[in-house]
Amino acid sequence: PKPIVAIVGRPNVGKSTIFNKLTGQRLAIVEDTPGVTRDRIFCDCEWNGHQFLLVDTGGIEPNIDDGLLMHMRRQAQIAIDSADCVVMVTELTAGVTPQDIDIAGMLMRSGKPVVLAVNKCDSVGEPPLELYDFYSLGIGEIIPVSGVHGHGTGDLLDAVLAHL
Ligand code: GDP
Ligand code: MG
Repeated sequence: PKPIVAIVGRPNVGKSTIFNKLTGQRLAIVEDTPGVTRDRIFCDCEWNGHQFLLVDTGGIEPNIDDGLLMHMRRQAQIAIDSADCVVMVTELTAGVTPQDIDIAGMLMRSGKPVVLAVNKCDSVGEPPLELYDFYSLGIGEIIPVSGVHGHGTGDLLDAVLAHL
């Protein structure tokens, strides 16, 4: 069976945008409304001759007593449990949020290999200083990406494949 790579993170950080960029197809729904991607979406991918299944998920929004958000968190936990490697997505502009810290905790407890994609790094050149704040999440591997422009997505896939 092909290894499974799951993309998780709180709503609106750009998971579906990255998924679309990586798969080259507009399969996932990209929306300004947080949490629009409510169910998992799968796509067969290949990178450097390695095949894997990429999974987009709805956002994880821990500790909020809301039916839809609980459902999305459950979906994300299922995705994490079934994944061989997880791409956690955060956004540069928002910095490290309490939800990011909770999700990083979920991932830590899962024991799965994790690569952190700090999205919305839209400008090319030197990595912005704010990038280094994300090391506080305790995920050793941080890749700056721009889902919209596609910057960093090759580095992200290289980092993921190293775990498969
Ligand atoms: P999701 O909820 O995590 O799946 O987030 P979406 O992929 O639906 O994106 C949420 C919003 O962030 C949309 O308005 C996207 O256009 C925007 N967005 C996603 N990636 C980037 C990026 O790399 N740069 C910028 N500036 N905006 C982005
Ligand atoms: Mg989405």
